[in-house]
Amino acid sequence: MQLEVKTVLNRIQHFVGFVCQDIRLRSPRGKLCIEVTLEPHQGMAGKCSACQRPAPGYDRLPERWWLFVPLWGIVTWFRYAPRRVECAQHGVVVEHMPWNEGKRPITVAMMGFLARWARRLSWRETARAFHTRWECVYRSVEWFVQWGLAHRKLEGVRSIGVDEIHWGKSKRADGFLTVIYQIDGHCRRLLWVGKRRTQATLRRGLAALGTEVIQGLRFVCSDMWRPYLNVLAAKVSHALHVLDRFHITWQLNQALDEVRRAESSRLRAAGRAQAEQLKGLRWKLLRRSSRVLGRARDQLRRLLRTKLVTARAWALKDLFEHFWTYQSLWGARRFLEFWTWRALRSRIGPMQRVARTLRSHQGLILNWFRAKGEVSSGAVEGLNNKIRVVTRRSYGFRTYAAMEIALYHTLGRLPEPGEATHRFC
Ligand SMILES: [Zn+2]
Repeated sequence: MQLEVKTVLNRIQHFVGFVCQDIRLRSPRGKLCIEVTLEPHQGMAGKCSACQRPAPGYDRLPERWWLFVPLWGIVTWFRYAPRRVECAQHGVVVEHMPWNEGKRPITVAMMGFLARWARRLSWRETARAFHTRWECVYRSVEWFVQWGLAHRKLEGVRSIGVDEIHWGKSKRADGFLTVIYQIDGHCRRLLWVGKRRTQATLRRGLAALGTEVIQGLRFVCSDMWRPYLNVLAAKVSHALHVLDRFHITWQLNQALDEVRRAESSRLRAAGRAQAEQLKGLRWKLLRRSSRVLGRARDQLRRLLRTKLVTARAWALKDLFEHFWTYQSLWGARRFLEFWTWRALRSRIGPMQRVARTLRSHQGLILNWFRAKGEVSSGAVEGLNNKIRVVTRRSYGFRTYAAMEIALYHTLGRLPEPGEATHRFC
């Protein structure tokens, strides 16, 4: 059998009621392109685009062009002059065209194709690889995500994590995002993202999920950001509110780093040789001690033998690791009281501050043991890391709207349109 382009097209993209009339290879301005001209199937009435029921023809509009998936790497266009039909219910409307979506100049197949590639490559690379513009990729992903959000299922969401993410360069309120994740064992995904990190932001996010989802929640995980705590206490009080292990460790590490930096510059200013001992230690200090091995471990041990404040702060931080090993709530509470007592007596400002914070949030911190095994401490951290990969790439996005779409696209686990049709990639 002689293979014709038409045969391939009909096999993978058959549109009932339409035929490929003409396929041409052209080269306007020296650039190859394929043009596929479509026509209505003879004797078949057009369908109303609103209800998809056949309706008598009204008139014909000027020809439109749609970008299709490139064949053999050659830019491919669909050409078609849409009919208007007179639907009994909807009046005079443009006919239904299965490859079309609204007024977009790209076929549904091509939008799906670009959107899928945009998950593996950056948007810019995707545009370059398939001879199209960045804007085209953006619009395709946008359509893909909107479809996914409209069709996603939110049943069975039991645990959510709420967090703030810094993005861009601004340190002000505009430089933060509020994210809501689902962190159940069977499904971890981004549920919602919004600008800023205020009470209003989180309230907006919870409202977007809907009352049914909120009522079904059993666990909520967050950091100690006051606006979040307020909203969660007011709106999700029926769920067990847990302060995430990873956030508490982060606080301890921040405090320790502050101590190290202050001491280091103090020693250097005094010209003391001990300043050398603090050099290049940052990551060794911040890591969990059981993960510092080899020569780094020796270096750490030498530091601990000194009388430096950093060494004492590190010992306090390291001691706290023990907290997470408790099996009983009772034991954990006793340890927390002991640790905060010790930290408060340490005369190390940043550590005292952490101790006071922990003490004032004791109830929420101990909830971690009440929820033991149900809430994964790594889930929020893991999703945050993935978000950072996207937001870092986001300097190319220019706008917040584009980044928001990229986040849902990569982390939302959204259902995809056109599951039943041919997959081009
Ligand atoms: Zn209709």
